[in-house]
Amino acid sequence: MRKLTIIGGGFAGLTAAITAAEAGTRVTVHEAHRTLGGRARTAEGPYLTNEGPHALYSGGPHWTWLKQRGLLGPLAPLPAAEAARFRFHRAGALHRVPPLGLLRQALRTAEQAPVDVDFRTWATGLAGERTARVAAAYSGVALFHHDPGSLSARFVQERLHRAASLPPEAHFVRGGWGQLIDRMAARAWELGVRIETSSRVDDLPLDGGPVIVATALPAAARLLGDPSLAWESGRTVLLDLALRTRKGDPFVVSDLDAPGWVERFTAQDPSLAPAGQQLIQAQLPIGPDASKAEGVAHAERLLDLGFPGWRERTVWRREAVSQGRTGAVDRPGTTWRDRPAVDRGDGVYLVGDQVAAPGVLSEVSFTSAVEAVSLALRADLVGRHHQHGLDLKRA
Ligand SMILES: Cc1cc2nc3c(=O)[nH]c(=O)nc-3n(C[C@H](O)[C@H](O)[C@H](O)COP(=O)(O)OP(=O)(O)OC[C@H]3O[C@@H](n4cnc5c(N)ncnc54)[C@H](O)[C@@H]3O)c2cc1C
Repeated sequence: MRKLTIIGGGFAGLTAAITAAEAGTRVTVHEAHRTLGGRARTAEGPYLTNEGPHALYSGGPHWTWLKQRGLLGPLAPLPAAEAARFRFHRAGALHRVPPLGLLRQALRTAEQAPVDVDFRTWATGLAGERTARVAAAYSGVALFHHDPGSLSARFVQERLHRAASLPPEAHFVRGGWGQLIDRMAARAWELGVRIETSSRVDDLPLDGGPVIVATALPAAARLLGDPSLAWESGRTVLLDLALRTRKGDPFVVSDLDAPGWVERFTAQDPSLAPAGQQLIQAQLPIGPDASKAEGVAHAERLLDLGFPGWRERTVWRREAVSQGRTGAVDRPGTTWRDRPAVDRGDGVYLVGDQVAAPGVLSEVSFTSAVEAVSLALRADLVGRHHQHGLDLKRA
């Protein structure tokens, strides 16, 4: 493929750019924002909050790909003493021991969950109502939806396996995902990719060359003038806090009554906040009719239980609602194959975390990006064979 235009310079756009440039293609990336990364951006400081992702799951295809290219590290390993500070919330109390043993056992022996049935029904039949509720709440960390029990059993089962695996799959990039994006951008530069930031594209380029649209799905729907490009995603309240350090704070509080997660990210990476302070993010999925205040109140209940004196210790605080930005969720009867297709025809490809590609969270952006480049390369090859055939005939 001689040239390729990529619209969007987030994790998906950069994955596509590197993949195509490695195959010898001249690539141009247009990014609307003044910096690359999209949702994978990290704030500039003093609190290195991530706009979106924290966890890089080592079971995903992106892990191996990044590792092979030396783009993965350095990572921020979790000290054993901090790992021991994982807490589970049930019925107003925090517990050290997860009720996940039974759950893991039940899920390990279970065959692949059905697509057509909701997770609540399937897991209740397998392990009882209480275990099903706990499992659904725990899976929230990998799917950011307020009611995982209502989603496809197959979809939730896969995320639960990944989120509850031992040893844990979740790893953390030191300094935040922004560091990973910087390494990917440097690799793209080395390969000769042209990167244009502050370059919003409002119409598809008219030069006829292949185009990869690597924006979030709503932006892609506008760009391609196709409102049918839509898929469900979650709605999550995010509460970021910097607290003065107190010995004994938990590493994680995972709510097993309803999806909710509070994580002290300085436990694994002290560089995220100034010395003597801890950086915490609470993630509370809320329903379509719930208010931000309800999510914040849920976060504060968990903080009251786990972080004594947190109100007096707060030195910085930020609240946000992340709507439709946490990747696709699949309803019963649907799988990733039913989402908007990568190949849009006429040399246009759609990538991102709400399109027809497998994986968990950002892995969907990754797999769709690699798939789009491979489809574009194949189409180019077929086109060239065809042209060669015509030339031979003419000769
Ligand atoms: C709160 C939260 C927590 C998350 N946690 C995790 C996690 O722990 N692990 C994980 O793997 N994933 C996680 N995710 C998901 C992850 O952030 C996303 O899947 C991933 O970052 C999406 O990357 P992308 O490149 O597909 O899209 P984006 O990051 O949205 O990138 C799209 C880019 O396109 C640009 N753009 C848009 N329109 C135009 C235009 N017209 N012209 C030019 N450029 C344009 C945007 O500025 C943006 O930079 C989380 C997300 C959120 C919100």
